Amino acid sequence: MKLHEYQSKRLFGKYGIPVPEGEVATTPEEARRIAEQIGGAVVVKSQVLVGGRGKAGGVKLAKTPEEAEARARDILGMNIKGLTVEKVLIDPAADIKNEIYLAVILDRAARRVAIMASAAGGMDIEEVAATTPEKIVTVRIDPALGLQDYQTRQLAYGMGFEDKNQVRQFTEIVRALYTLYQDTDANLAEINPLIVQSDGALLAVDGKIDLDDNALFRHKELEAQRDAAEESEAEREAREAGLTYIDLDGSIGCMVNGAGLAMATMDVIKLFGGSPANFLDIGGGAKADKVATAIKIILRDPRVKVILFNIFGGITRGDEVARGILEALKQVDVKVPMVARIVGTNAAEGRALLAEANLVTADTLAEAAEKAVQLSKGQ
Ligand code: GDP
Ligand code: MN
Repeated sequence: MKLHEYQSKRLFGKYGIPVPEGEVATTPEEARRIAEQIGGAVVVKSQVLVGGRGKAGGVKLAKTPEEAEARARDILGMNIKGLTVEKVLIDPAADIKNEIYLAVILDRAARRVAIMASAAGGMDIEEVAATTPEKIVTVRIDPALGLQDYQTRQLAYGMGFEDKNQVRQFTEIVRALYTLYQDTDANLAEINPLIVQSDGALLAVDGKIDLDDNALFRHKELEAQRDAAEESEAEREAREAGLTYIDLDGSIGCMVNGAGLAMATMDVIKLFGGSPANFLDIGGGAKADKVATAIKIILRDPRVKVILFNIFGGITRGDEVARGILEALKQVDVKVPMVARIVGTNAAEGRALLAEANLVTADTLAEAAEKAVQLSKGQ
């Protein structure tokens, strides 16, 4: 679950990271009132859960409250990368001398939490990594030792800080961001940019936090900040039904039991030249109702040209899933072809049931994927 910039920065503030004292507005008039209170120039920032808002025209400076109102009127309702802007953050305009990138992130390959910093802040870190990787300083944290002072100093010196005060400020921010990351079970806690102002003081002017969904149960107060607009309707419906669903942009709808199997299914679809429309894990022991919901969710996507069922019968019996599919087909009118691969416990019974219902059945994943890819291309 992603937090908005304003939510992230409030959290930064609680951990002692310096942030601008801004407020959120949902109307242009409200934006003007906030700008009046702040006094002086402000920045009007769209609050949508995507990066690159600045480039998309979603971050604008305003010198007066009237201008803030006008900019808020431009930005509210704007569409940024498919998301409609419903809130703007009004912050005092920052006096930027330098922009630094700072993030705490999980480095899966290293099996460590990593802290990355770059003096080329402001722009996409992916771009920096691709063009000037030497500008990124990374430290990885030993979970048994925790973040060490030499590591925060290495980051500070890597950013070119020499002034004692600035080194101290920066290392304190690094440590605070790491503590926040740990406390909230985040996958990512990012400040981009962390700015150096003319007087030398540091300030976090943008913030991004991505929380681990699997740990949200112990962070009710953070979960309560969820923005419904973050998810597509299909994703929300799936979450409420206990299904793991992620929208993708291909044409083969996938229904699979098990996350690993779902990943493998997507890979094999790609191997045969097709493209998955979604990732969907129905989980173990899925009954007819859940299967029906899954099919309905898959079919909400008009790009879906075929549905591929890939079921491994373990605890979930193949015939039970097959009955679930048949039951579901009574509830939903499916107009696209369907391919099913069922192996494992009671697979033969399951396949027989589905063949009767005119589903294309396959014995191997390769065979099923190949058929699904052909059908998705109208062959
Ligand atoms: P993003 O594009 O979604 O990452 O949004 P940011 O909040 O990072 O803003 C993009 C860029 O706008 C920053 O890198 C800054 O260069 C600039 N920016 C943001 N806030 C201010 C501000 O208060 N004053 C000035 N002058 N520039 C700002
Ligand atoms: Mn940014």
